Order: sequence, then C-alpha cells, then structure tokens
Amino acid sequence: MKNPYQILIIGGGTAGIMVAAQLKKQQASLSIAIIEPSETHYYQAAFTLVGAGTYAMSKTKRSEASLIPSGVVWIKDRATVLFPDENKVVTEKSGSIGYDYLVVAPGLVYDLSLIDGLEDALNNGVACSNYINPEYTWKCLQNFKGGNAIFTQPATPIKCGGAPQKAMYLAADYFRRKGISDKTNVVFATPGTVIFGVKSVADTLMRVIDRYKVNLRLYHTPVKIDADKRLVYFKDATPDDKKAGLLTIPGATLTADNLLAVPFDFLHLAPPQTAPEFILKSDLCNETGWLDVDINSLQHKKYDNVFGLGDVAGLPTAKTGAAVRKQAPVVVDNILNLLSNKPANNKGYEGYSSCPLVTGYGKMVLAEFNYKNEFTPDPMLKYMLVNNSDKEHWRLWLLKKYGLPYLYWNKMMKGEM
Ligand SMILES: Cc1cc2nc3c(=O)[nH]c(=O)nc-3n(C[C@H](O)[C@H](O)[C@H](O)COP(=O)(O)OP(=O)(O)OC[C@H]3O[C@@H](n4cnc5c(N)ncnc54)[C@H](O)[C@@H]3O)c2cc1C
Repeated sequence: MKNPYQILIIGGGTAGIMVAAQLKKQQASLSIAIIEPSETHYYQAAFTLVGAGTYAMSKTKRSEASLIPSGVVWIKDRATVLFPDENKVVTEKSGSIGYDYLVVAPGLVYDLSLIDGLEDALNNGVACSNYINPEYTWKCLQNFKGGNAIFTQPATPIKCGGAPQKAMYLAADYFRRKGISDKTNVVFATPGTVIFGVKSVADTLMRVIDRYKVNLRLYHTPVKIDADKRLVYFKDATPDDKKAGLLTIPGATLTADNLLAVPFDFLHLAPPQTAPEFILKSDLCNETGWLDVDINSLQHKKYDNVFGLGDVAGLPTAKTGAAVRKQAPVVVDNILNLLSNKPANNKGYEGYSSCPLVTGYGKMVLAEFNYKNEFTPDPMLKYMLVNNSDKEHWRLWLLKKYGLPYLYWNKMMKGEM
C-alpha cells in the first residue's frame, strides 16, 4: 500500500517548520505531514532577554497553526515509537503513520532527575532557569538584595550552550546598575574547561568576566541542591596546577564526600538535557544517546530514508536555532535528490552554529563557528558596520533584540532563509 505521506516530519519546532517550509517552496506538490503535539511555538532565543526584563514573554509566542506551511498536514499528536524497518511512526492517538522519508526533529527534553534536588528547588522557587521560566528569573533578579549569586550548567550537552553565561552577564550588569555589586558575589561554575571554545571569543569573554569581577569556576559540575538549606553542591575536578589564584566563594565548604557545598542567595541553572525517550528507546541513537546522523549530510547512518537535525541530532557542534538554519537546506536538498533518484550527496553542513553572547544591556559578541571551532563571521555583518563580531558591540545587541526575532518569524520560519 502507498504511504500516506512522502515526507513525515516529527516535531514542528524550529527545525521541523523550516524543513517543511523549504520543501514546499521548492516543490509545492510534495505531500508532507508534521507530527507536533503543541499548540504554541516559542522563539526560545529571546528567553535570555525575557529573563533580564528587557523583552516581553508574549512576543516569544506564536500559535503552531500560524506556522504550519500551507499545504502541509498538521497531525496534532505525539510520536511514541519508531519502526524504521517498516517506514512507520506510531503516535499516541492517531495510530501508526507510514512515510517514504522521515525527518526527525523533536528537539530535546529536560531531565531534572540528573541533579539531585533540582526538581524540588525549581518547584519551591528557590532556583530559577531561563530554560524553564524566564519571567521567574527576572522576578528573582529583582528580589535579590545581595549575597552569593550562582550561575551554573550541567554536564550534559544543552541547547544554546552560551545561554547560562548570558544570564550571568546580564545579571551582573543589572546588579551594577542597581548599585548592589559591592555586596554581591557572582559565581559562574561550569563543568567546561574554558569559557568558550572559540579562542578570540573566549579572550573577549575573559575581559568581560574581569570587568564584572565574576568568580569563574571551571571544572565544576552541579550534582545536588538542598532547597531548604539553600546549598548547591559541586563536584570540583579542577586540576592541581589550575587551583592557584582561584577566588574563594564566601561560605563554601568541602563535604565529607569531597563535594563543594556553596550557599546561595540566587541560583540560576540550565537543566540537564537528553534526547526524548522515544528516540532513546529506538535503534536510531548513537552511543551517547543522540540521533545517529552523518555530521555533514544529516542522513541517518543506518536508514537512508531518515534524516535528523536540530537539538536531537548527535552533532559535535552547539545546539542552536542558528545551526538549524544551515542544516535545513542540506536535509531538504538531500531529500529532493533521493526523490529524483539521485544520491543524497549534499555533505555541505560543516558544523556552523552561532551563539549571540549578550554581555550586558546594550552589548553583545556574536560567536559564529564550525566543527573545527574556527571563527566564521557572516560577511553580511559588514553591512551593519560590525567588522569584528568577536568583540562587544551595541549594533549586535540591536541585532539580537530586534533583527533576529524579525528574521526568525518572517524569513526562517517561512522557508525564505
Ligand atoms: C534559554 C534558551 C536560549 C537560547 N538561545 C538561543 C540563541 O540565542 N540562538 C539560537 O540560535 N538558539 C538559541 N536557543 C536554542 C534554540 O531554541 C534551539 O536550538 C532550537 O529551537 C532547536 O530547534 P528544534 O526544532 O530542534 O527544537 P524545538 O524548536 O524545541 O522543537 C522541537 C519540537 O518537537 C516537538 N516534539 C517533542 N516531542 C515530540 C514527539 N514525541 N512527537 C512529535 N513532536 C514532538 C516539540 O513540541 C517541539 O515543538 C536557545 C534555547 C533556550 C532554551
């Protein structure tokens, strides 16, 4: 029996919509369906600004219905099991759906259980996260009167790896403007070994960290939170030769099991993140639990008619919407090739991702890079009179606050970019 759809897309988020819109633009006759349970789509990149009180949450939302490209079928449901050998996806309510080509783009999920006490701390409002409720982050910042302000991120990959430090820079700037910097200890504790993977960007960020007098703790993984005592516990793997010169954190103590217990008056974190369960349970994952696709063609390594992109994909680059922008045309091109009996030989995705590192109100650095962590600034920035986007610039802030949201809704989500 003929499959009902030539192309079935799991996930109508940034990646699913971009792929569907670009496919339809190139070949209007294609039969395409998107499985997506949510009624609302969020422009998550603006959550950082919402968390700092400089962007309205309402502006980050659009109805899913308004984004589904015309002629594409929206199956308002959730994929639950994948049968790639039979070209079928089982859903919660709509039974199993057949396809000729499958695009897997369900994003990722937050797994709060990976940090002991995290769920409790978030539910009690003791900790905040721009990933979960950016409006609450802003409330916490406004209520903060001084003390230890701790910002951290987990050991798992996360979407927009720079987002936890952006929250920290904006908060540090906010404390300065509010006149409470002198009684505040801003700590940024990360499992990472450098502040950023691209050298020239990292150099700029280290200067920003000095400017705000941030206590930077590399090699620090958050493992436990005690919401009642307002303590966050870190596994500290700082090598001995890097311990000299570390600033002390007021009140921090070492526990019997060698964890660093840090008292906090404000705690912001990114939750640990994994691929969704139905992906983890399928045989489409690699050994690290992410979708096993070729890193340049985005074609699944085992199933030629399956492609994957966006946050779910196991790619050695940062998980961002900006990365999706460069991944989507490669997926589209390869599917169109296969549909016309040509090989899926577009291997053009070289790991491009970008991180708009907001370093204060009115300032931003734009990190653009590839799999080799080479700095690859967009030549178009020159037209904005930005010649060195690895340095702070007010024009980049304007791009973040006004330009990128406009491009997202009006170009990217319409398949025009
Ligand atoms: C705080 C924060 C800051 C960020 N900052 C930036 C930034 O500055 N720049 C940038 O480029 N990116 C940024 N990002 C990252 C960016 O939002 C993501 O990388 C991007 O949205 C990934 O697209 P995606 O389609 O893979 O996932 P999503 O856009 O999350 O979409 C996934 C979709 O799949 C659906 N889905 C899930 N499970 C199923 C299922 N079982 N069946 C069917 N559908 C399912 C979901 O409902 C969702 O609609 C940020 C993210 C956050 C949270």
